[in-house]
Amino acid sequence: MRMTVLASGSKGNSTLIASSRTRILVDAGLSARELTKRMRMADETPEALDALLITHEHQDHVQGVAVLARKLGIPVYFTEATHRAWMRWMMPQKRLTYAGWLAQRALQASTSRSAAEADANIAMGSPDGDPESAGPIADSVEPESAAPRPEEELECDARDGAEEKENPCALAVVEHFAAGNGFSIGDISVTPFTIPHDAADPVGFVFEAEGIRIGIATDLGYMPPNVTAALRRCDILMLESNHDLEMLRDGPYPWQVKQRVMSRVGHLSNDAAAKFLEKEYDGGASYVVLAHLSEKNNMPELARVAAERAIGARASLLANKVLLAEQSAPLETLCL
Ligand SMILES: [Zn+2]
Ligand SMILES: [Zn+2]
Repeated sequence: MRMTVLASGSKGNSTLIASSRTRILVDAGLSARELTKRMRMADETPEALDALLITHEHQDHVQGVAVLARKLGIPVYFTEATHRAWMRWMMPQKRLTYAGWLAQRALQASTSRSAAEADANIAMGSPDGDPESAGPIADSVEPESAAPRPEEELECDARDGAEEKENPCALAVVEHFAAGNGFSIGDISVTPFTIPHDAADPVGFVFEAEGIRIGIATDLGYMPPNVTAALRRCDILMLESNHDLEMLRDGPYPWQVKQRVMSRVGHLSNDAAAKFLEKEYDGGASYVVLAHLSEKNNMPELARVAAERAIGARASLLANKVLLAEQSAPLETLCL
């Protein structure tokens, strides 16, 4: 089996998992064009992908989903709740800002429609009942990640632009899965497990084929028992090490965002990842990949030192090699 982290961090996440027969992309948090480019950089053929799996609907995990899945004609696997949340994000009327809502209301008031009719329209147009929420699901951990949805990209995809504009959520095949229920894609068995994070129905995954087990757990506020259990016996463990607590506390984020990141449904700190590695991790992986590092609230060396200290004497030439996934370039392909 092999794994290539194409990108990891709050500006976009995507990881390729492959056996000799099956290729799966976990999340598509960059544009389809960038993901295609990075796959080629890693000597992977985008056209050979069999499926796209989504962990949760935050923008840094779904940015390129629609375009990539349509271009390649591959099925997209979501939980049902994540699929719905993703559709809400994709539908243009959900992006109404409070200013836009006020303007719309003023316009409606100036027309000859009855007040009741206008109110009904406003109610329908307001995003999730919260007109101030401009981006209902954008991962606000890194404020700069609040980019617009990939409308531009949808529009310049000339192949079926008209249909996409009409229904930007159109996908050739959607498969729903549920956390806790394993399924197979080709010869890879997939076990999704629930993670604590502020999304509709977020999951991590364990992949297994040819006797090799790969676990992915990023975007989680803490390590509950179901996650530590799922991550046992992994040969490759990809674990979030999002922030250094002090850097986050003293850093540039607004207090509310800091609170969210530190919360039980936020992101795993270097210390929390290290605590898991020291106390609960079985020490059996060849590679431990630290992932989803914050660019503002972490430094790669801090994450590495914390993890290596926690792994301690269990590190050797053949076991527990600590690697750091990057935002701007693919990580080396790990083969087992
Ligand atoms: Zn994320
Ligand atoms: Zn997230």
